[in-house]
Amino acid sequence: MPKQKSTKKTDIRFPTSVLQPVQSFFQDQLKNLEKQKRNLKKEDPFSNSNRTADNAALDTEAEEQFGHARTSALRNEIDKRIIEIRKSLSRIRVGKYGICENCGNMIDTDRLMIYPQALRCVNCEKKR
Ligand SMILES: [Zn+2]
Repeated sequence: MPKQKSTKKTDIRFPTSVLQPVQSFFQDQLKNLEKQKRNLKKEDPFSNSNRTADNAALDTEAEEQFGHARTSALRNEIDKRIIEIRKSLSRIRVGKYGICENCGNMIDTDRLMIYPQALRCVNCEKKR
């Protein structure tokens, strides 16, 4: 007689009552982040089209350089979070939210409370 396949741990799912608020939380976050990104674009001196090209003093140039570095660092941070949240949203859709993308174990709910867009469990995060 063939051995019965063991039920996989990934069968555990969060109920919709739990996922619904998480999903709307993510959607709000996403909206906020997109807004922040747009505002940053306006702040960035390099993307400002009416910036004076000629006779710009050297320190102005340096200041713009600094402003650009700062805004692009911030923008990278925002982009990273947008990606994480989009990933989390798609994991909710496929019913894999809260499951570590690396080892397939459930992510600790305490961790998800603090960091709802976590894609990996604590152990896998530590190994990185
Ligand atoms: Zn893991």
